[in-house]
Parts: sequence; C-alpha cells; structure tokens
Amino acid sequence: MVLNKIVDLNETNSPLEMVERDIPKPSAGEILIRVSRCGVCHTELDEIEGRTLPSDFPIVLGHQVVGYVEKHGAYSTRFNKGDRVGVAWIFSACGECKQCLNNNENLCPHFQATGRDINGGYAEYMVVPQEFAYNIPATINDSEAAPLLCAGAIGYRSLRLTNLQNGHNLGLTGFGASGHLVLKTAKHQYPDSKIFVFARNPREREFAKKLGAFWTGDTEDIPSEKLDAIIDTTPVWKPVVEVLKHLDSGGRLVINAIRKENVDINYLKNIDYPEHLWMEKEIKSVANVERRDVREFLQIASNIPIKPEYEEYTLEDANKALMEIKTSKIHGAKVLKIN
Ligand SMILES: [Zn+2]
Ligand SMILES: [Zn+2]
Repeated sequence: MVLNKIVDLNETNSPLEMVERDIPKPSAGEILIRVSRCGVCHTELDEIEGRTLPSDFPIVLGHQVVGYVEKHGAYSTRFNKGDRVGVAWIFSACGECKQCLNNNENLCPHFQATGRDINGGYAEYMVVPQEFAYNIPATINDSEAAPLLCAGAIGYRSLRLTNLQNGHNLGLTGFGASGHLVLKTAKHQYPDSKIFVFARNPREREFAKKLGAFWTGDTEDIPSEKLDAIIDTTPVWKPVVEVLKHLDSGGRLVINAIRKENVDINYLKNIDYPEHLWMEKEIKSVANVERRDVREFLQIASNIPIKPEYEEYTLEDANKALMEIKTSKIHGAKVLKIN
C-alpha cells in the first residue's frame, strides 16, 4: 500500500493505493524481512496530511513492523533466516555526529524514519539495516508486538524523560494507544506513584480506572493533588495549557507528539506565566526513539507482561484502519495482518 502524495483526509478516505512491486533486495549490512504484522499509528495521518512530510513519493508507510528474516545482504550475520524481528520508527542514524556519539541517536540530523524516509511495513516485504532490527521476546505474539514497537517504546521514552521518582504523582493527558501503555509501564516501574488521567471521553476514563488510575477527569477538571510530572499524548494544545496549572513546582511536562494540530492553537494565549510556568516548571518534547528505548521496553513488556489490546485488518483494509483512527478514538491498537 503506497502513499503517492499528500492528501486532505476530509476530502478522501482512501489515501493509500494497492500496487504490485518487486521484492526489495537487501544491501550490505541489511536484512530482508517477510512482514507478518504492521501496526497502524496516528503518525501515519501526520505523514498523509503533510504535517510530517515523507522524503519521497511514492512511499510505503508503517513503522511498527514484525516479520521474519528472509534473506541477508553481504556482511549481515546478526540474524538467521526465519528469526522473528521487529522494526521501529528509527530506521537509521549516522553513528558519527555529536548527537550519536552522545547517546542521542534519536536526535541525529541524519536520522531516517521507517515508513517516512525509507519504505516501511505496509507491504509484504521490507529491508532494514540489521543493527536497527530487534529480537522480540517469545512471550509476545506478532500482533501484540507491533504496537509495543511504537506507542510502547515512545511511551517508555516519555516516562524516562519525566525523571519521575517512585511515589511521585504522574499525570497523563489523553488516553489512546500510547497513554494506556504508559499507564501500565508506570505502574510497574513506579509502583507507589499515583496516576492521574485527563481524558475527554468517558469510556477512556473508565478504561483508565480499570487499569489502575488513581484519579480520572475531563480536560478541565481539577485533580485532587498536584502532579510532579505529566505526559501529554494528545494531538492538540488545550490539554497542555489546562494541565500546566496542576504541575507542581519544579515539575516537568513531557509532550509526546511529533506535531500538534493547529485547530486550537489560539488556546496557547491562555497561558498565564505565574500560574502555568513560574516556579521552575519545565516543558520538554520527546522526539523519535533510540534503539535502547525499543530494546528495553520489549523486555519490560515481556516481564510485566503487557499485552496490548488490538484489532486486526488486512493490508487491503489499511485505508479503513487509518480512517477509523482519524474519526474515532478507540483504545485498542490497530494492526495490519499481512502474512
Ligand atoms: Zn507510531
Ligand atoms: Zn548521527
């Protein structure tokens, strides 16, 4: 399934086109993967609508790929044929720049994203550098692994960036695929912390309660306690502005989004410096993932264990899955079942 150009999803509901292509050939250091599953992510909407612009067209989207090694390029000996591997958003980084040498490969200026800069997993086959593929613990099935590779790994990174300590209060704004994985991970990593969930949808709030949230409320509701750290997983601005009021002195808000939509950009004018930002409150964004995030999170997910809820679609139904993400908020992850 390929994206041929940027489109407005209010005008079309089939942005991707099914085409027949040759099986790609792995170059030196790469492996060819027969794709089993590929997760469908909100980021694909950002690519389709041009908020996160693909480097080239046509492009095969998809960056939560689970598959089996089919062939090796030269000097590619890390995996055996038939090994199950995952591929995440980080397709490659240069390994030589200041950021890469400082263990910030996610910030590398030459960072390439799977399914944006290089063809991804909405396909029967894809190639990837062997060093950017991951073993998946045996306790996790293919469909469960797909959402862990993106929503899970980025959620884990966001949680790391909050600098939360066990026992401190954590707030979450939004409770989609990423939010619910963050909640499960946080309860495991910080068992004495209380988790406060802000979500517009009553069904999402109920789901958060079921998973062990201490408090849930709507975007403008006032939580019973101050928050030491907050992770924002919404695509808009209002939740950020509203929740900053409840961040304690010295606390940090981590925004886990590649792009914010502009629909409510004017809401930022409601920021009142003394109330929202003074007392050394911090705002930090989270960009991409390092391989370390993916590796560590897959292990944690296997230990807890985290079994994401998912719905399977055929590859031909990729457009349908994308439009359902666009138009409704459902807590389960969507996964394309390909081979
Ligand atoms: Zn994603
Ligand atoms: Zn680099």
